[in-house]
Amino acid sequence: MSERSRTSSPGVFDFVERRWEEDILPTLTRYIEIPAKSPAFDPQWAAHGHIDRAVALIEDWSRRRPIEGLTVETVRLPGRTPLILLEVPGTSAETVLLYGHCDKQPEMVGWSDGLGPWIPVRRGERLYGRGGQDDGYAVFCALTAIEAVQRSGAPHARCVVLIEACEESGSRDLPAYMEALAARLGEPDLVICLDSGCGNYDQLWGTTSLRGIVNGVLTVEVLSEGVHSGASGMVPSSFRIARQLLSRIEDERTGAIVKDFQVVMPPARREEARAVVATLGAEFGRFPVMPDMRLAKEDPVELMLAGTWEPALSVLGADGIPAVVDAGNVIRPKTSLKLSLRIPPTLDAVEATRRLREILETGPPYGARVTFQAQTPSPGWDAPATEPWLLSALHAASERHFGKPAMFRGTGGAIPFMAMLGARFPRAQFFVTGTGGPGCNAHGPNEFLHLPMAKRLTACVADVIVAHYRARRG
Ligand SMILES: [Zn+2]
Repeated sequence: MSERSRTSSPGVFDFVERRWEEDILPTLTRYIEIPAKSPAFDPQWAAHGHIDRAVALIEDWSRRRPIEGLTVETVRLPGRTPLILLEVPGTSAETVLLYGHCDKQPEMVGWSDGLGPWIPVRRGERLYGRGGQDDGYAVFCALTAIEAVQRSGAPHARCVVLIEACEESGSRDLPAYMEALAARLGEPDLVICLDSGCGNYDQLWGTTSLRGIVNGVLTVEVLSEGVHSGASGMVPSSFRIARQLLSRIEDERTGAIVKDFQVVMPPARREEARAVVATLGAEFGRFPVMPDMRLAKEDPVELMLAGTWEPALSVLGADGIPAVVDAGNVIRPKTSLKLSLRIPPTLDAVEATRRLREILETGPPYGARVTFQAQTPSPGWDAPATEPWLLSALHAASERHFGKPAMFRGTGGAIPFMAMLGARFPRAQFFVTGTGGPGCNAHGPNEFLHLPMAKRLTACVADVIVAHYRARRG
């Protein structure tokens, strides 16, 4: 069998390109305008209705797809964000599960002139605006890939596209849907996750591991009300106590996290990191740091592993601390810090949360009132070994649509659903990918979707769906 006849069709990219320009971009542009912030950032999401508007937009677009057998349904469990379930029957009984989400991160400050979170702007190859890249493009990519397969006449397995609306809140509504929809989801044989990233825009990227995350609020209370800071030196500062507590977790000189939150990394992951650094060269580890500032590690392989397999602590927010302009000479009664501990892919997230609380709350300095209120943690994920057919399908798709082989790497973010699926379906194969590449700045200001990447990825997904059928049914 020739290489070409194993892929979806010679014209797949032309078709995908046309769909993107004519159908997808006008709809994705309207999606960007909707402030469909995830429940963690918009607790009144149900009353505000933005998530429902995003869901309705996607539902409407999906219903108009000329895909044979496609059913479109928005499932709503009481008190939870909705979930879009798109099913396409196949020629074989195996299930390919495609995943994305339609809830968004909040606005963030720092958008450049003319850009803004809810202002879609196309400049050259980029479509700017919140949620276009993370992860609004996913449903359009998934259905267009399926449509491309059908147009080519190639058979495919049953496909289920699942778009959730709670991912940026740790997918807290998803387990309930997994239970409620277990029979309809079936047992996925291949999972295609479209919510990850790419190391460049020049080839196809697969994500082999994701870190987990434990978020929570550390509060240190020292006074029942603020007092004149003439009393400083006598009343211990809540900020100093918080610093002291953080040092129980993190070495403040190096950022190293205590052993409780570390794992032994599989050796193959170091080899992957070496290959990625060799491919990306100077492009790897490019962040908008201040002039003359250095990153945490000098060696690029160690740097990459620090961001993918080592734990790291961030302080995301603070309460009890006035803005600079409002700050008087007062010993503040309390300090609250929102902490975010990224944990290695294979660390037990529930146990890590328990341990973090224990370390922070045990033996509070000076007997201050210390609490750590944890959110539900997101577990990390380490991919099972990729079967040979999938590996060669990914390389072939990448060669065909990018002219280069595929690359694989771990990433530092979390996708809770991958861990859920990995635990539930240990035999499933995973193709975790996405358009989050250099400069795209998902979650930050000036987020953009790299359009050539999105189009080529769509064509690659079509090829992988075809290759899956061939691998299973010959
Ligand atoms: Zn995302």
